[in-house]
Amino acid sequence: MNSKTTGPEWKVSLHGGHSGEFCEHARGSLRETIEAAVAAGYRTFGVSEHAPRREERLLYASEREKGYDVERLKRDFDAYAAEVRRLAAEYAGRITVLCGFEAEVVPAAGYRDAMLELQRRHAFDYMVGSVHHVHEIPIDGTKQDFDAAVESCGGLEALCAAYYELVAEMIAALQPQVVGHLDLHRRNAPHTADLQTPEIRKAAGRALEAAREYGAILDLNTAGRRKRLGGPYPAPRLLRRAAEMGIPFCFGDDSHGPSEVGAGIDEARAYLLENGVTSVDVLVRSGPSGPGGDVFRKTVSLQA
Ligand SMILES: [Zn+2]
Ligand SMILES: [Zn+2]
Repeated sequence: MNSKTTGPEWKVSLHGGHSGEFCEHARGSLRETIEAAVAAGYRTFGVSEHAPRREERLLYASEREKGYDVERLKRDFDAYAAEVRRLAAEYAGRITVLCGFEAEVVPAAGYRDAMLELQRRHAFDYMVGSVHHVHEIPIDGTKQDFDAAVESCGGLEALCAAYYELVAEMIAALQPQVVGHLDLHRRNAPHTADLQTPEIRKAAGRALEAAREYGAILDLNTAGRRKRLGGPYPAPRLLRRAAEMGIPFCFGDDSHGPSEVGAGIDEARAYLLENGVTSVDVLVRSGPSGPGGDVFRKTVSLQA
């Protein structure tokens, strides 16, 4: 068993730890990020850097402006995989650091093999499966990109349904341990839009069915709060629907810099409890808390 005992058992984030060292749109070094995780009182901190995109057309505008190319993304990611293991070993007595990554569904043809290959090559402890693109267009970046994605789907309702269909497909293809920010499509959708139409609800149901079938944990992601959505991902209705189906949650601070590490976790715990969810699933490393031990899953009470 893990010998680390500080902090309550539920104080675990399985999505986040992006750092400016390895991610163009994050800040700080990975070491500073892990220091912040120790200071935040996390028992386990799962680091899930973004998988590199392998085609020039998939680079973000901000990356292009800074002269990034696919080689740079690949090099940074390989360096990340080595550094996160090194730091996991170094910090083993203070915090359990899990070495993971956040998978992408681009390119649409071939992402499955590419992501599974990354997983194999770096022997990551776990994977966060996320959908950031619909029709290969980013939906959580600029409003301009989001509008282009809506247009390519033929409307907002169709985009939302397509988003959930992709989540369902991704879960079956990658079987990730954690599914990232389940209703990310809300981020750029107009606040007045109806996102509860029968078509969208049906597609969301398919995503939830896939999560249940493949035993995925849903990321209760506090970035939703920071992005002015008024609360974490997922929204209350979707959260309750998942909980009714018996699908477990974990916390994810989705930190993109040391100052965001631990942000919103206490509120997220209260949010789960308010909605009748009294436990979370965490990943625990067996044996010494450094890299190498098996990672297993455990359900822990939120009331302890
Ligand atoms: Zn990011
Ligand atoms: Zn994400």
